Amino acid sequence: MHELSIALEVVNLLEQQAAILERITQVNLAIGALSCIEPEALKTALEVATRGTLAEGARLTFEFIPAAARCDDCQGEFEPDSRIEPCPLCGSPRKTWLAGQELRIRSLEGVARPD
Ligand SMILES: [Zn+2]
Repeated sequence: MHELSIALEVVNLLEQQAAILERITQVNLAIGALSCIEPEALKTALEVATRGTLAEGARLTFEFIPAAARCDDCQGEFEPDSRIEPCPLCGSPRKTWLAGQELRIRSLEGVARPD
């Protein structure tokens, strides 16, 4: 399952916080519109993948990053609805993606380790 491998990567990133956080209570994830990630499936996968980690039981929220691209021919920037949408300015199919394919941890909240 696509989402489970992504969830495991997220857990790896979360575990890097273990040096400063005792427990993670909330994770805000930003999902690119082109990333093909199904939020409900990712949520379920994360609930499983965080078991036994410092992020177990953390509240998960999701936010979408719209797709953005720059035309390789006219340099115009636009927000395509799909991967194959051509440039609306000049019709070129050649573009460079600027955003929308990523999954990022936008922010997280937790309980800091005592000094
Ligand atoms: Zn163009």
